[in-house]
Amino acid sequence: MADTVPDAAPPPSLQRKFTRAVILAAVLPAVGLGLADQVAAYRSQTQYLRDRVEVTAALSGAAVDEFVQAKLSSVALLADLGTVVKADGWRARLGELRERYPHFISALVADGNGTVLATSPEPPANAPSSGVRDREYFRVPQRSHRPYVSDAFVGRRLGNDALVAVSAPLMADGRFMGVVEGSIPVSAFVSTRTSAIQRRGMELLIVDRSHRVIHASDGIPYAFLQDAGDRVAFEDPVSGRRSTPAVFMSDVMRDGRGAWMSQARLESGWTLIVFAPETELWSFLYRRALTSFGIMTLVLLGVWFAYRWQMRRFNAALKRLVESLGGLAADGGNTISRIASLPDEFQPLGRAIRDLSQRLESTNTDLQASLQEQRNLALSLQDSLQQTESEVAARTAELQAAVEALDRLNQTDALTGCLNRRGLQKRLSSWSDDRGELFEPITAIAFDVDHFKAYNDRYGHAAGDTALRRLAGAVSGLLDDSPGCLARSGGEEFLLIVPTATCPDATSLGIAVCEAARRLSIPHQDSATGMMTISVGVAQGRAGEDVATVLIAADEALYRAKHAGRNRVES
Ligand code: GH3
Ligand code: MG
Ligand code: MG
Repeated sequence: MADTVPDAAPPPSLQRKFTRAVILAAVLPAVGLGLADQVAAYRSQTQYLRDRVEVTAALSGAAVDEFVQAKLSSVALLADLGTVVKADGWRARLGELRERYPHFISALVADGNGTVLATSPEPPANAPSSGVRDREYFRVPQRSHRPYVSDAFVGRRLGNDALVAVSAPLMADGRFMGVVEGSIPVSAFVSTRTSAIQRRGMELLIVDRSHRVIHASDGIPYAFLQDAGDRVAFEDPVSGRRSTPAVFMSDVMRDGRGAWMSQARLESGWTLIVFAPETELWSFLYRRALTSFGIMTLVLLGVWFAYRWQMRRFNAALKRLVESLGGLAADGGNTISRIASLPDEFQPLGRAIRDLSQRLESTNTDLQASLQEQRNLALSLQDSLQQTESEVAARTAELQAAVEALDRLNQTDALTGCLNRRGLQKRLSSWSDDRGELFEPITAIAFDVDHFKAYNDRYGHAAGDTALRRLAGAVSGLLDDSPGCLARSGGEEFLLIVPTATCPDATSLGIAVCEAARRLSIPHQDSATGMMTISVGVAQGRAGEDVATVLIAADEALYRAKHAGRNRVES
């Protein structure tokens, strides 16, 4: 089956999937919630700052009013006591006033023309006596016949601190008779309040009727104070409220930041302004964001550790599962015990592996049995094959022996036991090549029984056969162990062939053959000697000479021996 599915990218690991899931399910919602929380915190904190600045302005205004009005009341009380008092009496009363209200840095009484009748403390002896007719704290009560709180000024004799004067008219029968005045340093009623406000992270500004700055806490920059009258829209609070709704002003604090501002109109006509810098808001939001981030980080860390721990357990279980599968693949052993210790979630998989293992085991057993059967079958087949093979080998050997015997028989003359013409041909071919050329020199001796027809006629054919057998035996005896051979070339005619190397003297061999026939002493009455004789032709062939030519030469020599009278050797 060809695999035509293209290589797909491997699926993402569990860890990457988990990270994605954590980002989607935890980080993104957490970031969203954190942002929503920041927005909500921004809103509520803004509202809180607005409320706070409004309340602080109202309370501070009330406190300053209370302080100043108390001082005003004390001066008015003194003025109500009467106008017919001499200067010494006034001096004593002013001293008493300053004793009861130590905030008064100085006090004075002036007559209807503004001439100073008495002061406390006493002026230096050489100080020029001056009237107060041009002073605001004189002119306003003179005109209105009512107590008055002045704007801020710097007293010539009383140092550089800003002062305010509270004054009340001296009246007799509805006529203006002069004023009683007391000077209070601004610091007397703003310093504790300012530090309390600053402790709460806010700043305080008090301006008088003509919008001159009476007091500014040190968080408000000089540049702002210069043009405060232009930048601040002074307004009265709506009725029933002591302070105006908070408004945001940018670039109002010393660090260049903006602030929420609320104003309170004091009974004296001054304006008290409280600033709540936005820094407060941002540091709050920053702290809150930091806390949210810390919590988120802790939760994420917790999730991550839980995940790592779970992954470790999961991997350990997976490892056991893989080991049991490996064990199954290797030898099938110990699988059950490994599966038993797997966590609950892996049990179905474990059971499937165990079933598989059992099925494999039974299949394996069947397979082993069938393999054993096949092995036995193969062994028995091998046995019978071996038996057959040895039988075939024995038969083949027998057959070979029979063929060899037959071959030998085929090349042997049945009567004499020497080679027949086929046997002779085979021997000659071993001495010559394909063309019949001799490998080595040979000696060929052809011989024929003399007057054998007559012998047959006289002694019978059987006697002739016997004589031929004896003749062949006698000539064979000459060969000994020499590699030569004797063949019956036909009828009563024979051919003896020997390698010339083993018998150099061919004629002597021919004579020996002739002599061997004589020595048989077979009586033959039709022969000249009365005994059976033979005629012998000898020929020699050199190496490379045609073997047939040599045989013909031997035959011709035999022919010559016959014609020369028989019972002789011719070469
Ligand atoms: P020569 O001296 O000229 O050789 O005269 P010969 O009579 O021997 O020659 P011839 O060729 O006239 O006669 C050969 C005889 O040999 C004829 C045949 O009867 C006899 N002969 C051939 N083969 C055998 C055989 O196997 N056994 C017997 N007994 N006689 C055989
Ligand atoms: Mg003959
Ligand atoms: Mg013959």
